[in-house]
Amino acid sequence: MVNLKSAVEIEKIAASGRIVGAILAAIGQQVKPGISTDDLDQIARQMIEEAGGTPSFLGYGDPPFPAAICTSVDDEIVHGIPDKTRILREGSLVSVDVGVYLNGYHADAARTFAVGTISRELEDLIAVTRACFWIACQQAIPGKRTGDLSAAVQKHAEDHGYGVVRELTGHGIGQNLHEEPDLPNYGRAGHGMRLEPGLVIAMEPMINLGTRRVRMKQDGWTIVTADGQASAHYENTLVVTDIGPRILTLEPGEEEAWSD
Ligand code: MG
Repeated sequence: MVNLKSAVEIEKIAASGRIVGAILAAIGQQVKPGISTDDLDQIARQMIEEAGGTPSFLGYGDPPFPAAICTSVDDEIVHGIPDKTRILREGSLVSVDVGVYLNGYHADAARTFAVGTISRELEDLIAVTRACFWIACQQAIPGKRTGDLSAAVQKHAEDHGYGVVRELTGHGIGQNLHEEPDLPNYGRAGHGMRLEPGLVIAMEPMINLGTRRVRMKQDGWTIVTADGQASAHYENTLVVTDIGPRILTLEPGEEEAWSD
Protein backbone atom coordinates (compact mmCIF):
# COMPACT_ATOMS: atom_id res chain seq x y z
CA MET A 1 0.00 0.00 0.00
CA VAL A 2 1.26 3.45 -0.88
CA ASN A 3 1.31 5.83 2.04
CA LEU A 4 0.93 9.53 1.13
CA LYS A 5 2.59 11.87 3.62
CA SER A 6 1.06 14.77 5.51
CA ALA A 7 2.67 18.20 5.59
CA VAL A 8 4.06 17.45 9.05
CA GLU A 9 5.58 14.18 7.88
CA ILE A 10 7.10 15.85 4.83
CA GLU A 11 8.86 18.40 7.04
CA LYS A 12 10.27 15.57 9.15
CA ILE A 13 11.63 13.87 6.04
CA ALA A 14 13.01 17.24 4.93
CA ALA A 15 14.83 17.58 8.28
CA SER A 16 16.48 14.19 7.73
CA GLY A 17 17.17 15.19 4.14
CA ARG A 18 19.01 18.36 5.10
CA ILE A 19 21.45 16.25 7.11
CA VAL A 20 21.88 13.88 4.17
CA GLY A 21 22.63 16.81 1.87
CA ALA A 22 25.13 18.31 4.29
CA ILE A 23 26.92 14.96 4.63
CA LEU A 24 27.15 14.49 0.86
CA ALA A 25 28.62 17.98 0.52
CA ALA A 26 31.15 17.35 3.30
CA ILE A 27 32.18 13.99 1.85
CA GLY A 28 32.46 15.49 -1.63
CA GLN A 29 35.00 17.96 -0.23
CA GLN A 30 37.08 15.15 1.26
CA VAL A 31 37.17 12.72 -1.65
CA LYS A 32 40.74 12.68 -2.92
CA PRO A 33 43.52 10.19 -3.67
CA GLY A 34 44.86 8.56 -0.48
CA ILE A 35 41.70 8.73 1.63
CA SER A 36 40.00 5.46 2.59
CA THR A 37 36.33 4.66 2.17
CA ASP A 38 36.22 4.15 5.94
CA ASP A 39 37.39 7.75 6.38
CA LEU A 40 34.27 8.81 4.44
CA ASP A 41 32.11 6.63 6.67
CA GLN A 42 33.57 8.28 9.77
CA ILE A 43 32.64 11.74 8.44
CA ALA A 44 29.04 10.59 8.03
CA ARG A 45 28.86 8.88 11.42
CA GLN A 46 30.10 11.99 13.19
CA MET A 47 27.73 14.35 11.38
CA ILE A 48 24.71 12.07 11.95
CA GLU A 49 25.54 11.75 15.64
CA GLU A 50 25.96 15.52 16.03
CA ALA A 51 22.56 16.01 14.39
CA GLY A 52 20.92 13.56 16.81
CA GLY A 53 20.03 11.09 14.07
CA THR A 54 20.78 7.47 13.28
CA PRO A 55 22.37 6.03 10.12
CA SER A 56 19.55 4.38 8.14
CA PHE A 57 21.81 1.72 6.65
CA LEU A 58 23.75 0.57 9.75
CA GLY A 59 22.45 -2.87 10.69
CA TYR A 60 19.97 -2.93 7.80
CA GLY A 61 19.19 -6.22 6.05
CA ASP A 62 20.72 -9.66 6.23
CA PRO A 63 23.64 -9.87 6.68
CA PRO A 64 23.31 -6.59 8.64
CA PHE A 65 25.00 -3.76 6.74
CA PRO A 66 28.08 -2.92 8.82
CA ALA A 67 28.52 0.80 8.12
CA ALA A 68 26.70 4.15 8.09
CA ILE A 69 27.07 4.77 4.35
CA CYS A 70 27.66 2.80 1.17
CA THR A 71 30.87 3.53 -0.73
CA SER A 72 31.03 1.91 -4.16
CA VAL A 73 34.26 2.28 -6.13
CA ASP A 74 34.66 2.03 -9.95
CA ASP A 75 32.87 -1.16 -11.08
CA GLU A 76 30.93 -1.30 -7.80
CA ILE A 77 27.43 0.00 -8.51
CA VAL A 78 25.88 0.25 -5.03
CA HIS A 79 26.10 -1.16 -1.49
CA GLY A 80 29.91 -1.14 -1.25
CA ILE A 81 31.12 -1.53 2.34
CA PRO A 82 33.48 1.15 3.70
CA ASP A 83 36.89 -0.30 4.60
CA LYS A 84 40.10 1.14 6.13
CA THR A 85 42.15 -0.78 3.57
CA ARG A 86 40.19 0.57 0.58
CA ILE A 87 42.28 3.59 -0.41
CA LEU A 88 40.89 5.80 -3.18
CA ARG A 89 43.16 6.25 -6.17
CA GLU A 90 43.51 9.02 -8.73
CA GLY A 91 41.19 8.47 -11.68
CA SER A 92 38.62 6.39 -9.79
CA LEU A 93 34.95 6.99 -9.10
CA VAL A 94 33.34 6.58 -5.70
CA SER A 95 29.56 6.49 -5.30
CA VAL A 96 28.45 7.52 -1.82
CA ASP A 97 24.95 6.65 -0.60
CA VAL A 98 23.73 8.22 2.67
CA GLY A 99 20.57 7.52 4.65
CA VAL A 100 19.60 9.38 7.83
CA TYR A 101 16.81 8.53 10.29
CA LEU A 102 15.62 11.38 12.52
CA ASN A 103 12.36 11.88 14.45
CA GLY A 104 10.91 8.71 12.97
CA TYR A 105 11.59 9.47 9.29
CA HIS A 106 14.26 8.51 6.76
CA ALA A 107 15.82 10.41 3.87
CA ASP A 108 18.18 8.84 1.33
CA ALA A 109 20.46 10.25 -1.38
CA ALA A 110 23.60 9.41 -3.34
CA ARG A 111 26.25 11.06 -5.48
CA THR A 112 29.17 9.75 -7.52
CA PHE A 113 32.40 11.67 -6.98
CA ALA A 114 35.58 11.81 -9.05
CA VAL A 115 38.80 10.91 -7.24
CA GLY A 116 41.29 13.52 -8.45
CA THR A 117 41.34 13.83 -12.23
CA ILE A 118 39.25 11.30 -14.12
CA SER A 119 38.89 10.44 -17.80
CA ARG A 120 36.47 12.31 -20.04
CA GLU A 121 34.59 9.02 -20.43
CA LEU A 122 33.98 8.82 -16.67
CA GLU A 123 33.11 12.52 -16.40
CA ASP A 124 30.42 11.96 -19.02
CA LEU A 125 29.08 8.92 -17.14
CA ILE A 126 28.66 10.98 -13.95
CA ALA A 127 27.05 13.87 -15.81
CA VAL A 128 24.58 11.71 -17.73
CA THR A 129 23.60 9.77 -14.59
CA ARG A 130 22.90 13.05 -12.80
CA ALA A 131 20.95 14.33 -15.81
CA CYS A 132 18.86 11.13 -15.84
CA PHE A 133 17.59 12.09 -12.40
CA TRP A 134 16.83 15.71 -13.24
CA ILE A 135 15.15 14.93 -16.56
CA ALA A 136 12.96 12.28 -14.93
CA CYS A 137 12.27 14.65 -12.04
CA GLN A 138 10.42 16.95 -14.43
CA GLN A 139 7.84 14.16 -14.75
CA ALA A 140 7.25 14.04 -10.97
CA ILE A 141 3.96 15.93 -11.06
CA PRO A 142 0.44 14.90 -10.11
CA GLY A 143 -1.28 12.90 -12.84
CA LYS A 144 1.93 11.45 -14.27
CA ARG A 145 2.78 7.83 -13.50
CA THR A 146 5.84 6.09 -12.10
CA GLY A 147 6.44 4.65 -15.58
CA ASP A 148 6.91 8.18 -16.92
CA LEU A 149 9.86 8.69 -14.56
CA SER A 150 11.26 5.24 -15.26
CA ALA A 151 11.05 5.66 -19.02
CA ALA A 152 12.71 9.09 -18.86
CA VAL A 153 15.71 7.69 -16.96
CA GLN A 154 16.03 4.74 -19.31
CA LYS A 155 15.80 6.82 -22.48
CA HIS A 156 18.41 9.38 -21.46
CA ALA A 157 20.89 6.69 -20.36
CA GLU A 158 20.37 4.42 -23.35
CA ASP A 159 20.57 7.38 -25.77
CA HIS A 160 24.15 7.67 -24.51
CA GLY A 161 24.81 3.95 -24.98
CA TYR A 162 24.90 3.15 -21.27
CA GLY A 163 23.48 0.13 -19.43
CA VAL A 164 20.58 0.73 -17.05
CA VAL A 165 20.64 -1.46 -13.93
CA ARG A 166 17.36 -3.34 -13.52
CA GLU A 167 17.88 -5.47 -10.43
CA LEU A 168 17.72 -2.48 -8.07
CA THR A 169 15.14 0.29 -8.02
CA GLY A 170 14.20 3.54 -6.39
CA HIS A 171 11.49 3.40 -3.76
CA GLY A 172 8.99 5.13 -1.60
CA ILE A 173 10.43 6.35 1.71
CA GLY A 174 9.19 7.66 5.04
CA GLN A 175 8.88 5.82 8.34
CA ASN A 176 10.56 2.94 6.53
CA LEU A 177 13.69 3.18 4.41
CA HIS A 178 12.04 1.24 1.60
CA GLU A 179 8.31 1.66 0.99
CA GLU A 180 6.00 1.26 -1.96
CA PRO A 181 6.04 2.07 -4.78
CA ASP A 182 9.11 0.54 -6.41
CA LEU A 183 10.58 2.97 -8.90
CA PRO A 184 12.57 1.13 -11.59
CA ASN A 185 15.03 2.99 -13.81
CA TYR A 186 13.48 1.41 -16.89
CA GLY A 187 9.87 1.09 -17.97
CA ARG A 188 7.04 2.31 -20.12
CA ALA A 189 5.63 5.83 -20.07
CA GLY A 190 1.97 5.97 -19.07
CA HIS A 191 2.23 2.82 -16.93
CA GLY A 192 2.56 2.30 -13.19
CA MET A 193 1.11 4.12 -10.22
CA ARG A 194 -0.42 7.55 -10.70
CA LEU A 195 1.54 10.25 -8.84
CA GLU A 196 -0.29 12.26 -6.20
CA PRO A 197 0.68 15.13 -3.91
CA GLY A 198 2.29 13.77 -0.75
CA LEU A 199 4.01 10.85 -2.48
CA VAL A 200 7.62 10.76 -1.23
CA ILE A 201 10.07 8.77 -3.33
CA ALA A 202 13.79 8.19 -3.61
CA MET A 203 14.65 8.15 -7.31
CA GLU A 204 18.07 6.72 -7.98
CA PRO A 205 19.44 6.04 -11.47
CA MET A 206 22.25 3.45 -11.43
CA ILE A 207 23.95 3.68 -14.82
CA ASN A 208 26.74 1.49 -16.22
CA LEU A 209 29.34 2.43 -18.80
CA GLY A 210 28.94 -0.99 -20.41
CA THR A 211 26.53 -3.86 -19.86
CA ARG A 212 23.51 -3.43 -17.60
CA ARG A 213 24.23 -6.89 -16.17
CA VAL A 214 25.30 -7.11 -12.54
CA ARG A 215 26.59 -9.60 -10.00
CA MET A 216 27.02 -9.59 -6.21
CA LYS A 217 30.38 -9.84 -4.47
CA GLN A 218 31.00 -12.53 -1.87
CA ASP A 219 30.50 -10.02 0.96
CA GLY A 220 26.76 -10.43 0.37
CA TRP A 221 26.23 -6.71 -0.28
CA THR A 222 28.35 -5.12 -2.97
CA ILE A 223 26.73 -5.09 -6.42
CA VAL A 224 29.25 -4.83 -9.28
CA THR A 225 28.98 -4.62 -13.05
CA ALA A 226 29.25 -8.00 -14.78
CA ASP A 227 31.83 -6.66 -17.25
CA GLY A 228 34.01 -4.83 -14.71
CA GLN A 229 33.35 -1.41 -16.28
CA ALA A 230 32.51 1.65 -14.20
CA SER A 231 29.08 2.62 -12.86
CA ALA A 232 27.57 5.83 -11.45
CA HIS A 233 24.69 6.56 -9.07
CA TYR A 234 22.66 9.68 -8.34
CA GLU A 235 19.77 9.81 -5.91
CA ASN A 236 17.53 12.28 -4.12
CA THR A 237 14.48 11.94 -1.93
CA LEU A 238 11.65 14.09 -3.30
CA VAL A 239 7.98 14.81 -2.66
CA VAL A 240 5.36 15.27 -5.36
CA THR A 241 3.43 18.51 -4.79
CA ASP A 242 0.72 20.39 -6.71
CA ILE A 243 3.35 22.78 -8.04
CA GLY A 244 5.92 20.13 -8.95
CA PRO A 245 8.64 18.10 -7.27
CA ARG A 246 10.34 19.36 -4.11
CA ILE A 247 13.78 17.85 -3.57
CA LEU A 248 14.36 17.05 0.11
CA THR A 249 18.05 16.02 0.04
CA LEU A 250 19.77 18.92 -1.68
CA GLU A 251 23.27 19.89 -0.62
CA PRO A 252 23.65 23.35 1.00
CA GLY A 253 23.58 25.92 -1.82
CA GLU A 254 22.13 23.46 -4.31
CA GLU A 255 18.61 24.84 -3.81
CA GLU A 256 19.52 28.09 -5.55
CA ALA A 257 21.15 26.23 -8.42
CA TRP A 258 18.05 24.08 -8.88
CA SER A 259 15.60 26.99 -8.87
CA ASP A 260 17.55 28.85 -11.60
MG1 MG B 1 17.65 4.58 -2.06
